[in-house]
Amino acid sequence: MTIIEPIVADAAAIPTPAAYRLAGVTKTYTQKERVIRALAGVDVEIAQGDFVTIQGPTGGGKSTLLQLLGALDQPTVGHILIGETDLATATARDLERVRAIEIGFVFQAFNLIPTLTAAENVDMGLEPLRLAKDERAARVTEALERVDLADRGDHRPGELSGGQQQRVAIARAIAKRPRVLLADEPTGNLDESMRDEILAVLEALNAEGLTLVVVTHDSAVANRARRRLRLDQGSVRDITR
Ligand code: ADP
Ligand code: MG
Repeated sequence: MTIIEPIVADAAAIPTPAAYRLAGVTKTYTQKERVIRALAGVDVEIAQGDFVTIQGPTGGGKSTLLQLLGALDQPTVGHILIGETDLATATARDLERVRAIEIGFVFQAFNLIPTLTAAENVDMGLEPLRLAKDERAARVTEALERVDLADRGDHRPGELSGGQQQRVAIARAIAKRPRVLLADEPTGNLDESMRDEILAVLEALNAEGLTLVVVTHDSAVANRARRRLRLDQGSVRDITR
C-alpha cells in the first residue's frame, strides 16, 4: 500500500505568488557632491493580482520607487525580483524586455501623442512586441473596449476629455497584456467625476487579475485599494487599516 503524503498540510500556508519581491532596496542620487537618499532600504512584497496604493509626502520617494518597479532605473543597493528576474542585476537588454512585455505604465499627464488618434496611440504601446498586423489591430480594439472607448478610436487626444485621454493611456498600457500596471498619480490632473471613471476602469482590470501599483495623493483612490503603503523619507510602512 502506498501512502500519499499531503503536499501541503495547511492550505493557508501556500504563499500567494509574488508579482514583486523587494529586499533592502536603496536608491541614492548624487548631485553636485550632495548625496540624496531617495529610498532607504525598502523591503516589500507585492502579491500577484493585488491592488496597492503608495501615498506619502512630496519627496518621499514614490516616483523613484515606481521607476525602479518599472525597470526604468536600477537600485543602488538591494534586489527587485519581478518573477524570476532581478531588476537590480539585469542587463540593459533584459530591462528593456521587462519594460516592453511585463509592465504597463500610466502617468499623471497622460503622455499621449497629440497628432495620433486614440487607436494609433494604443498601437504605439505594442511596437516592441513585433506582433503580426492582424493581432496588433485586434489588441488595439480589445484594449479600447476594455476602457469603454471602442467608439473613440479615431479621435485625437485634443478631441477627448481628460478622463477619456487617461483611459486611452490605460488602453495603451494594457494592450501588451502586462503582468503589472504601474501608475504615477493617474487621477492627479482630473476632476472628481473623471477620477471615478478612471477608478472604475482600474478596478475592473484588477478584478480580471491585473496587479495594480498606484502612487496617489487622492484618498478616494487609496480607499479602494486592497493594500495601502506609505513612503516617507525613503521608508515604506503598511498603513492598510
Ligand atoms: P516623490 O515622488 O515621493 O515626490 P521622488 O521619488 O520624486 O519623491 O524623490 C525622492 C527624493 O529623491 C527627493 O529628495 C528628490 O529630490 C530626489 N530625486 C528624485 N529624482 C532625482 C534625480 N533624478 N536626481 C536627483 N535627485 C532626485
Ligand atoms: Mg513623484
